[in-house]
Amino acid sequence: ADTLILLCRSGFEGECASEISDVVAAAGAYGYPKLEKGSGYVCFHIQGGDAVDLVSRIRFDDLIFTRQWFACLPGLVDLPPKDRLTPLAEQVAELPQCAEVVVETPDTTDGRELQGFGRKLASALAPYLRQHDLMLPRKSRAKYRLHLFILSGREMFVGVAPVNNSAALPGGIPRLKFPAAAPSRSTLKLEEAWHWFIPRDQWDTELAPGMRAVDLGAAPGGWTWQLVKRGMFVTAIDNGPMNEDLMETGQVEHLREDAFTYYPSKPVDWMVCDVVEKPARTTAMVIDWALNGRSRNMIFNLKLPMKQRYVEASRCLAQIREELDAAGIRGILRAKQLYHDREEITCWLSL
Ligand code: SAM
Repeated sequence: ADTLILLCRSGFEGECASEISDVVAAAGAYGYPKLEKGSGYVCFHIQGGDAVDLVSRIRFDDLIFTRQWFACLPGLVDLPPKDRLTPLAEQVAELPQCAEVVVETPDTTDGRELQGFGRKLASALAPYLRQHDLMLPRKSRAKYRLHLFILSGREMFVGVAPVNNSAALPGGIPRLKFPAAAPSRSTLKLEEAWHWFIPRDQWDTELAPGMRAVDLGAAPGGWTWQLVKRGMFVTAIDNGPMNEDLMETGQVEHLREDAFTYYPSKPVDWMVCDVVEKPARTTAMVIDWALNGRSRNMIFNLKLPMKQRYVEASRCLAQIREELDAAGIRGILRAKQLYHDREEITCWLSL
C-alpha cells in the first residue's frame, strides 16, 4: 500500500498535510500530500516506505489535525455502477485481513449525503468479501479494521488501519447528544475531549465525584456544567454571568477575576480553560500552572485564528514539553482538533 488517507476538519487540510509530512519524515519515510481545500481529507502518497507499516508505527494519538486515517492503494476513480464489488475486492485482496468494515465520508455537506449510499454498499461488500475469503468472520479478532471512504458513487478508497491505532468511531466523530440542561453548546467540547483523552475505564477515577476543578473563562458555564455533572466542585473564573441553575447546585463558586492571574490556594484535580486568547498567552499560563503544581490534569484550548496554524500549535506544544523537561516534570501532553472545535485545538496535560 502506498497511500495514506487522513480525515480532518474541512478547511484544515493544509495543517493536516503539513503535520503528516513531518511525522512521516520523522518515521524515516517520505512522500507528498495531495489536497483540496474544503474537502475534509488529505491523500498522502508514500514513495519511500509502506503505508500499512506507517499506520502501525506512527502513533495516531500524536496527530493533532487528523481525526481518522487508514492505509490503502491509490483510490478507485471510475467504479462501474453495475459492479463496484469486484474492483473493491481486488484492492482488499492486497491488504491485511479484517473482521469489520466501517464506512466513512468527508465531513462536508456533500460527504454527509453519501452516508446512506455508503452503508448500503458496505452491507453488500462485507458478505461478498467473506464469500471470497477476503474478510474474517464477524467478531473474530483482527489487528486491522477495513475502511471504506466514499467520495462519490464512482470514487472511493478502501484501506486498513490498526484497531488500536486509529479512531474507534467512524470518521473520528463522536455522536454526542447536546444535553438540554447545559448552559452552552461549548459543553460538548469538554465532553468530547474526555472521550479522546481519558480511557473510558478511567472515568470513575479521573473524573470522580468530590474532585476540585477550576474553570478559567467559564461563563455561561457549559464546561462547568460537565464538571458538576461528574460531581466535582468548581471554581468558575469569569467576569461574565454564570447560568443561574448551575449556581443553584451549590457546587460552583463564581469569582469575577482574571483567568491569567488567578490561581487556587491549594492544588486542584482539574483545570480547564476555554478563554479566547492568543495561544502563546494560554501556553505561558499552562506552563506556570504545571511548574507550580497547581493542577494534576488540564484541558485547554489553543485558539488558532491566524495563518500559520500548524506552526503555531506545534510551537506552543513544544514549548510546554521543553519547559516540563527542563524542570524534570514528567507528564503526558496530547492535542487534537476535535469535531466540536472550530478554529482551535484542544489539549490535555496530565502530570
Ligand atoms: N467554556 C464556556 C462554556 O462552555 O460556557 C465558554 C467560554 S467562552 C468561549 C470564553 C469566556 O472567557 C467568556 O465568557 C469570557 O468572558 C471569558 N474571558 C475572556 N478573557 C478572560 C480573562 N482574561 N479572564 C477571565 N475570563 C475571561
